[in-house]
Amino acid sequence: MFDFEGKTAIVTGAGSGIGEAIALELAASGAFVVVSDVDEHAANRVVATIMDRGKRAAGFAADVSDPDAVERMVKFAEAEGGALHLAVNNAGIGGPQRPVGEYPLDGWRQVIDVNLHGVFYGMRYQIPAMERAGGGAIVNISSILGSVGFANASAYVAAKHGVVGLTKTAAMEYSANGIRINSVGPGFIETPLLAKNLDQEALDGLASLHPIGRIGTSEEVSALTCFLLSDRASFISGSYHLVDGAYTAQ
Ligand code: NAP
Repeated sequence: MFDFEGKTAIVTGAGSGIGEAIALELAASGAFVVVSDVDEHAANRVVATIMDRGKRAAGFAADVSDPDAVERMVKFAEAEGGALHLAVNNAGIGGPQRPVGEYPLDGWRQVIDVNLHGVFYGMRYQIPAMERAGGGAIVNISSILGSVGFANASAYVAAKHGVVGLTKTAAMEYSANGIRINSVGPGFIETPLLAKNLDQEALDGLASLHPIGRIGTSEEVSALTCFLLSDRASFISGSYHLVDGAYTAQ
């Protein structure tokens, strides 16, 4: 559906769930994809799937909360792909589920480190690389919880709201330089992140919160993300795009 022939892309957290679906779709559409994840095994599994399909990818193990590792990831993409054109800052964690007055301090720091600092570190090194490439496009994966609250998830909600503001600001700074930057806000999506944290009863409860009557799929998030990365979205920058089955319409 999209044409990413000749483009090099980085997807973080691409060893699972939403990031994996995005990496597969970008590669299927012709991009050379750096499949990055803290879990090297998971990244290599996705690379093998892409190569089995006759497309191009390379794995890179990086923890997005480590700025040095993120800088090395961007250098790797430039060295292997010739230049960096596309990036999806997707890696994220759920974190502890507790009210603010009882929220564990180490859990707070960990969620902010991965879900907010990780996105900043990504753009901090991707943007100069895209300037060297003559332009590019970035999508930062936020959440519906980038615009509404959710009880017992204060660190996650704060980080995802932060991603939306960070994205708007970076887009104001770099859109004139040919780098479009947007954020995506998925509703609840069927991925290992949810399965790791919730039982079936809780998953059914979440589905009922979406007027569309179910939770979403990673492929539905990938379709929007790839559109925003593509030239079809040439006038779209600095905005927050929901893919949420009407969750936030209520
Ligand atoms: P997932 O299935 O758990 O995949 C996330 C991947 O990121 C995993 O492979 C994970 O590795 C990796 N990761 C975790 N911490 C990392 C770090 N510090 N550096 C690099 N990689 C790291 O999660 P998902 O559901 O696809 O979520 C992807 C993104 O979508 C996240 O930003 C999440 O907040 C967002 N999102 C998800 C939903 C949802 O309902 N699923 C809804 C809205 C937004 P490990 O498995 O080893 O931790």
